[in-house]
Amino acid sequence: MIKAITDRATLNNGVKMPWLGLGLWQVESPDVISSAIRTALDAGYASFDTATAYGNEEKIGAAIKQIGAKREDLFITTKLWNLQHVKGCEASIQACKDSLRMLQLDFIDLYLIHWPVPAKGQYVNAWKALVQLREEGLVRAIGVSNFQIHHLQEIVQETGVIPAVNQVERHPWLNQKELIAWCREKGIQIEAYSPLMRGHITEEKTLAELAARHHKTPAQIVLRWDLQGEVVCIPKSVHDHRIRENADIFDFELSTEDMAAIDTLNRNHRLLPDPDRMNYC
Ligand code: NDP
Repeated sequence: MIKAITDRATLNNGVKMPWLGLGLWQVESPDVISSAIRTALDAGYASFDTATAYGNEEKIGAAIKQIGAKREDLFITTKLWNLQHVKGCEASIQACKDSLRMLQLDFIDLYLIHWPVPAKGQYVNAWKALVQLREEGLVRAIGVSNFQIHHLQEIVQETGVIPAVNQVERHPWLNQKELIAWCREKGIQIEAYSPLMRGHITEEKTLAELAARHHKTPAQIVLRWDLQGEVVCIPKSVHDHRIRENADIFDFELSTEDMAAIDTLNRNHRLLPDPDRMNYC
């Protein structure tokens, strides 16, 4: 049972990853980035999720430096963007080095392939690049994002290397039961993006009822559902009170019935593109 914000998931290569992190997509102003990271660190967060595609790695690097956070107290995730990964292994390695420079880091804690660009062999080559980056010590753990079971099967079959993490859209409307079960069996940690349904959590009556019963908010109920399902989550907020609220989830427990009630909200509804149908051009 996850009891404290300092508890960690142990990834399949032994790296410890915080169960809760701060999402930083669409957070662009340097002042807002700096204030969000400062508030999050004060609230006990250690994990921050960005991507080359978010265009904010440089600002995050500057904010961390300015705040003076100790490197060992941080867990930084960034992602290889499609434009670099389709250019092959060398370009993927260079993209990671560019991220390191922008983030002002010597290593990245978790490096992910952002999307499985489908043209033959491309994400397999990108995966080989990530394996090399881990061997060279530039990243501590490697994983993927938006990978379906067949994408995972292909990279494992081609390289024999199992990703440490698969970061996917997951929330009450898209509970990803089958993918989670498959990944769990293979030792791949699932990480939920858009865990708060990009703000739609306030629309669900069941969540409001559970929130009232537990004296919590709908956001806290959903994040607790993730923790109890052993899913890492990275809610995004730029507001101090919400960053703190989203971390105040370690002092209560959902019952088996509560968990099942949230599971029934699934309607396989995506807020972001389906990885198998996305237009990658
Ligand atoms: P989330 O599900 O985290 O929802 C964010 C929205 O919810 C914002 O509008 C935020 O508003 C609002 N919010 C935050 N806290 C609360 C709260 N306690 N109560 C009510 N509303 C709240 O969406 P994201 O899509 O941003 O996902 C989170 C992170 O996942 C991203 O930031 C990114 O790091 C990652 N991600 C990865 C993707 C991938 O392809 N790998 C794709 C999408 C996201 P406000 O900021 O105003 O508080």
